[in-house]
Amino acid sequence: MSIRRAWSVMRVAVVGGGITAFAAAHRLTELVPEVALSLFESSHRLGGVLETTRRDGFLIEGGADNFITTVPWAVDLCRRIGFEDQLIQTNSGCRHAFVVRKGKLLPIPDGFVVMAPSKVWPMLTTPVLSPFGKLRLACEYLVPQRTVSEEESLASFVRRRFGRETYDRLVQPLVGGIYTGDADKLGLRSTMPRFAEMEAKHGSLIRALRSQPKSSERSGGARYSMFVAPRDGMSSLMEAIASKLPDGCIHFDALVERIVKAEGGWSLSFASDIGCPSEFDAVVLATPAMPTAKLVASLDEDLARELKSIHHASCSIVSLGYARDQITHPLDGFGLIVPKIEQRKILSASFSSIKYAGRAPDDHVLIRVFIGGDHQHELASLPDDDLLATATTELRDLLGVKGDPMISNISRRAAAMPQYYIGHADKISHIRDRLSHHPGLFLAGNAFDGVGLPHCIHSGEQAAEGLVKLYAKKN
Ligand SMILES: Cc1cc2nc3c(=O)[nH]c(=O)nc-3n(C[C@H](O)[C@H](O)[C@H](O)COP(=O)(O)OP(=O)(O)OC[C@H]3O[C@@H](n4cnc5c(N)ncnc54)[C@H](O)[C@@H]3O)c2cc1C
Repeated sequence: MSIRRAWSVMRVAVVGGGITAFAAAHRLTELVPEVALSLFESSHRLGGVLETTRRDGFLIEGGADNFITTVPWAVDLCRRIGFEDQLIQTNSGCRHAFVVRKGKLLPIPDGFVVMAPSKVWPMLTTPVLSPFGKLRLACEYLVPQRTVSEEESLASFVRRRFGRETYDRLVQPLVGGIYTGDADKLGLRSTMPRFAEMEAKHGSLIRALRSQPKSSERSGGARYSMFVAPRDGMSSLMEAIASKLPDGCIHFDALVERIVKAEGGWSLSFASDIGCPSEFDAVVLATPAMPTAKLVASLDEDLARELKSIHHASCSIVSLGYARDQITHPLDGFGLIVPKIEQRKILSASFSSIKYAGRAPDDHVLIRVFIGGDHQHELASLPDDDLLATATTELRDLLGVKGDPMISNISRRAAAMPQYYIGHADKISHIRDRLSHHPGLFLAGNAFDGVGLPHCIHSGEQAAEGLVKLYAKKN
């Protein structure tokens, strides 16, 4: 392909209308303001799985409700688009969460960081683990390092180092909450490489975590709480990014069906005539892996096969608004997670209006209940009435909720969460290898190097930067 165009006539298509696509489009216009950019989204709205709804004074998120600040990309983007002052911190009063044990809510021990404890005393005193479970956990110091180089599952790693009880009672529900996944299938290196590195470097995770600076010392004094959220919800962030893009570049109801090589670039086929050009010099596909596989199927079967093989989990979120006095539990935390061994029908519940201000009217509470995931995928697709009944029954049991919710909202997120199974890293490196045969075509999104919003933003921005670098070389 020989492309020698001035940037002013360089035609770039970004396919997708989620955070990844908007991050890619924004970075591109930031680097090359004169680029001729078109963004194609199949639905009638921006945001993809991000969707904020306001009803009766409640602010309801249908997907992500916050993002982590320990990696820079989301906060950086907010800063660059002048959105930083819209970020709110988690409520400082009760920055902890609960785990269900035998039907009761117990606090997750302070300092337990997803997979491992960083503080001794809370682990010794927690009622979440039995005396035997605690003893086995403490023996982590003595567990020898693994010498086999094959990737280990996340579950096997935790059971090996900390014992089955710590896995069943703490790690499984925490990981289930992040990936809605099955930790026996998730690969350690692909999901939590940091913990594999800690074992390799320090021989023990407890030793590694205890040798780290306290979080308040992080980068010379953390400016944010670990998680932040847009004051007016995720849709306001999407609108803020969209407002920075060139006028008229966003096309809704534009379902792209196929991408093929064309003279000097790429040609897109649309499901219906959207009245805009279909030939481009470069294309960023910022769609989830399954639609991306369909788009590239006629271009590269091998690439399509690899993309298709990335499994995605489904879940549904039931958001419920109650008057505060309908709930007996003090709600002195951000939410609860449910271990699989408790055999309940929900994965977790987030006390949204406790976590962030402005999510419910005064004297009311908004709770988001997550149902489904890899372990209970059949529950995610229950009819609305059954989802609602499942969520309200579980909350009645766990939180002592009385009466019906005053509002309810259901968001279905089918096949929305990619699962980084064992071997994912190899799969991604094969995908990148195939892509190198198609210069000018870029893939970005949550299927590759991280599912959280900061990683999606990074992935989109990297695609834009790669594109600019490629054309800088050619011109
Ligand atoms: C329930 C849930 C809760 C989450 N919570 C958090 C959280 O709290 N914090 C966090 O950091 N992350 C969270 N995540 C993860 C994060 O929200 C997602 O990884 C991220 O939003 C994905 O963005 P994306 O743009 O890559 O994909 P998407 O949001 O899926 O966007 C892809 C877009 O592409 C469009 N599209 C697809 N095919 C085509 C086509 N052929 N032509 C044109 N358009 C097409 C779709 O309509 C869609 O709009 C959560 C995810 C889920 C599902």
